[in-house]
Amino acid sequence: MSDLRDLYQEVIFDHNRHPRNFGPFPAANRHADGFNALCGDKLSLNLLVEDGVIREARFEGSGCAISTASASLMTEALKGRTEAEAAQLFDGFYHMVKGEPTAIDLGKLAVLAGVSEFPARVKCATLAWHTLNAALRRIEQPVSTE
Ligand code: ZN
Repeated sequence: MSDLRDLYQEVIFDHNRHPRNFGPFPAANRHADGFNALCGDKLSLNLLVEDGVIREARFEGSGCAISTASASLMTEALKGRTEAEAAQLFDGFYHMVKGEPTAIDLGKLAVLAGVSEFPARVKCATLAWHTLNAALRRIEQPVSTE
């Protein structure tokens, strides 16, 4: 089990140091900003959604390792998913970081399961997902995890 934990930590470090899908995305047609006051994590999410499918997802911002890795992993997981599938992933991810069981297959997102042992970091891990939710629902106000 501790080997698995090491592997998970390695993936998180890697995504923090080399975030995937990081940078501006002028072609986006959905956008939302999120802020986690507890930790100071800020993130700006841009999506290209066509016919209900998320074709592209990119983010910008600055935050702790958990929030950056979570956003990076999320944008990877979203590409090619329908909005309904993205909502399911959000639901499954939220249960996982709360330490609750979920039937949703989270794939690589499972590396963040350890966050459930650190309640203060749950907001860091879910910031990107709350921001996604706002982008898909076209909520203009910046999202706060408060
Ligand atoms: Zn954070």
